Amino acid sequence: MNKRITLLPGDGIGPEIIDQAVIILDQVAAKFGHTFKTEAKPAGGAAIDATGNPMPDSSVAACRESDAVLLGAVGGPKWDHLAGELRPEAGLLRIRKELGLFANLRPAVLYDALRNASPLRSDIAARGVDILIVRELTGGLYFGRRGRTKGASGREAFDTEMYNELEIRRIARVAFSLARERRRKVTSVDKANILDSSRLWREVVIETAADYPDVALEHMYVDNAAMQIVRDPSQFDVLLTTNMFGDILSDEASVVTGSIGMLPSAGMGETARGLYEPIHGSAPDLAGRDVANPIATILSVAMMLRHSFGLAEEARAVERAVSRVLGRIFRTADIMSPGMTLVGTRKMGGLISAEIILN
Ligand code: NAD
Repeated sequence: MNKRITLLPGDGIGPEIIDQAVIILDQVAAKFGHTFKTEAKPAGGAAIDATGNPMPDSSVAACRESDAVLLGAVGGPKWDHLAGELRPEAGLLRIRKELGLFANLRPAVLYDALRNASPLRSDIAARGVDILIVRELTGGLYFGRRGRTKGASGREAFDTEMYNELEIRRIARVAFSLARERRRKVTSVDKANILDSSRLWREVVIETAADYPDVALEHMYVDNAAMQIVRDPSQFDVLLTTNMFGDILSDEASVVTGSIGMLPSAGMGETARGLYEPIHGSAPDLAGRDVANPIATILSVAMMLRHSFGLAEEARAVERAVSRVLGRIFRTADIMSPGMTLVGTRKMGGLISAEIILN
């Protein structure tokens, strides 16, 4: 398989973790006989310094022409004084919008070796956590009509939760399709006992489910879902949510897995071309010190292999390698605990890469 990948290393620890991701891509290519051509383009603060624009047209064009995009992180104190649309983060919003990424996939997996790092009670953690949150990303409350007015009781403000059936159907399809590659269960989160938008959400999800008779569907009110994620997260496979509910529940689900340095994500649209990135930021406090955890970015590569390239076996090989290296007691500082061996960014990347060849 021949694939082109645009790299947007960005700022802070971005370039260091992207370097490790490229080593993993090269190793997967060597082991499985693929060709992955990577090309780095400026984004974020680095792009502001080079061109005055946080996401230059040339970077957008390269992303459009590639099969997938891998982003490190953007931002840092050096650019904090800039106005909104000139800030590094504006570049990130632009590329997500330009690529039409309406689906945000956030897997929350608790590795056996990191159970002690989870705030879950040990008997609950022992049942395992392997949830894929499929969050709608371009509609709902964050994009609805909003405003501020003056009323009889003083200042008023409003935001509207609005969804149309096209938006609901396309994100539901993503959830059902992905469930087919997992444990074939979708839990759709809503507040259909109160909200009209949630009633439409539930209606359209049920209609969409008819095309996926092999996937079990259940509905859960968002307040109950928030409770169940800490009470028994092992019950969830794919969690399908609106924009705001997903924003909140994905933070809750991610914290049960230990460290922000472990969590990958994917932004997907109508095509197979996705944007993959760790959920963490540029960690300026760690930049250039070879101490950042590269695993979130390496697991983002696994997501790219699976979701953009359809290479499930290769994705599993990367995930297994991460799991084995953690099992062999190697830890970066963020997941360090007594009795473990502390390693830096490059060493962790090298260990995972070597493990891919071994297995
Ligand atoms: P952050 O995620 O960069 O850091 C939060 C904490 O987590 C810090 O203590 C950091 O050291 C630690 N951390 C983050 N990634 C780590 C890793 N891989 N290994 C070990 N520890 C890690 O969030 P922040 O400090 O709020 O933001 C720093 C900058 O990043 C800001 O400019 C912010 O706007 C930007 N940011 C960018 C993105 C993105 O590019 N997607 C996301 C969030 C924040």
